[in-house]
Amino acid sequence: MAVTLLCPRLSCRAILRVPDTVRGQRVRCSECGMAFVVPQSAKPARNKQPAEQQKTPT
Ligand SMILES: [Zn+2]
Repeated sequence: MAVTLLCPRLSCRAILRVPDTVRGQRVRCSECGMAFVVPQSAKPARNKQPAEQQKTPT
């Protein structure tokens, strides 16, 4: 399975596809050559669920 990444260099922002086996490792952008570490989770997983929503009594 491939991971789609965005080059962290703002002036580049190339879309890179790398195998998910390189997670946590350093890869190079094929466009600008910038080396960066592939994050463990590709998606910005922010599963901050609100702890038990209280029902407001009407
Ligand atoms: Zn780049």
